[in-house]
Amino acid sequence: MTDPTDPRQHLPAVSVLLEEPTVQALIAQHTRPVVLDAIRSVLDGYRAAMGPNDAPPDTAAVIAAIASALSEAELDRLRPVVNATGIILHTGLGRAVLPGAAVKALAGLDRCCNLQIDLETGLRGKRNYTSERLLCRLTGAEAAVIVNNNAAATLLILAALCQDREVVVSRGQLIEIGGSFRLPDCVHQSGAKLVEVGTTNKTHLRDYEQAVTERTAAVMRVNPSNYRIVGFSKQVPIGELVTLKRKHNILVIDDLGCGALVNLERYGLPHEPTVPDSIAAGADVVCFSGDKLIGGPQAGIIVGKKELIQRIRKHPLMRMLRVDKLTDMALEQTLRLFLEPETLVEKHPTLRMLTTPPETLKRAAVRLKNRLQKTGCSFAVRVAEDESEVGGGSLPATPLKTYVLAVSSPRLSPDALSALLRKNEPPIIARIAHDEVLFDMRTLLPGDEKHILDALKHVASEA
Ligand SMILES: *Cc1c(COP(=O)(O)O)cnc(C)c1O
Repeated sequence: MTDPTDPRQHLPAVSVLLEEPTVQALIAQHTRPVVLDAIRSVLDGYRAAMGPNDAPPDTAAVIAAIASALSEAELDRLRPVVNATGIILHTGLGRAVLPGAAVKALAGLDRCCNLQIDLETGLRGKRNYTSERLLCRLTGAEAAVIVNNNAAATLLILAALCQDREVVVSRGQLIEIGGSFRLPDCVHQSGAKLVEVGTTNKTHLRDYEQAVTERTAAVMRVNPSNYRIVGFSKQVPIGELVTLKRKHNILVIDDLGCGALVNLERYGLPHEPTVPDSIAAGADVVCFSGDKLIGGPQAGIIVGKKELIQRIRKHPLMRMLRVDKLTDMALEQTLRLFLEPETLVEKHPTLRMLTTPPETLKRAAVRLKNRLQKTGCSFAVRVAEDESEVGGGSLPATPLKTYVLAVSSPRLSPDALSALLRKNEPPIIARIAHDEVLFDMRTLLPGDEKHILDALKHVASEA
């Protein structure tokens, strides 16, 4: 039996709430089913919390609670954020920032595209044709094929070229990448058999030589792209591994990982093996990621000898691992930028972030500090020299000198301040060091300074 004196009977009805203009506006923003769920869970919350002598909340309070529940759920929406972490290829933040040209092309996908049709003949065409041609041109390889990511590329290469046979890998290169991808597991999944050679810190050419037998399909070099073994260490360069082919009928596979297409030394960065170098040195197949130093969408790229790429393409796994039109379109546009080295850095966000001089970053930090101080907010702010990271398993142990705006609040802990910034629209992701929240200028994009300024002003006014 319902008890009319029970205040829980006097909560606003769902149907009444739905008619409220504020709720109508929430429906327009979040859709009706989502708002209905929020209304029900807020009302359930009141029912559970109210005692028999409590006054029922007024409608305005219920609506405010619904709006706040919805904005919390909204936090999970996939959307742009400000990367103030200084980590250029931040896996948690989607790795490479896509070049404007790629984004512009993607906007055209509100209609169909010629993904797999030959416009000349009107017949079935080749998927990823232009991207693959660009890859050949930029790397010097005979052929190329594109898959979902570099882990997929490794799996597919081994499955297509080494199944039921042995692959020789140095013990210093048996890597684990994030997301529990471990090279030995990948080799196992492919149906190839792993033969480990050398020691953790040193592997010599003779170690490979002794391990090669008639069961060997390939030797594989894995670029230590997310760690470094320093000190008393040695790994065999790809050019030396290729000499094994003179005596043995084996393939040389190079998992380059971060996939530098250009020599980074040109920009004052440390040497990172490039794809064209590996191809020129005689590697049979080379694979790398599309969203590390290439600076494009998530993809795995395989380049190499035509006959081998053809075998890879024909493997049944190819259909499971191929990329969609979004990836192909974004990758093609990203690769095109490499054809014009003069304008590359300007148009390629990842390379631009990698190469921005510290003085430029210092000026940006000072400018932001001055603008923030002008608002008269209560934060303590200072500009400090610091180090950015490349991230995303690229150029490990290569800190880049940077400048940060270091902010601390008399009332908020750094953790509390960062939590509020993550709830900003757009969310701002900063890093914390000691008792300060740091905004690293290196990874900011045009417009981000204003977002940071507005967010800090807002937080200061609420705190
Ligand atoms: C990053 C990396 C991978 C994995 O690449 P994803 O594109 O993230 O799948 C594999 N091998 C090496 C050497 C890498 O650096």
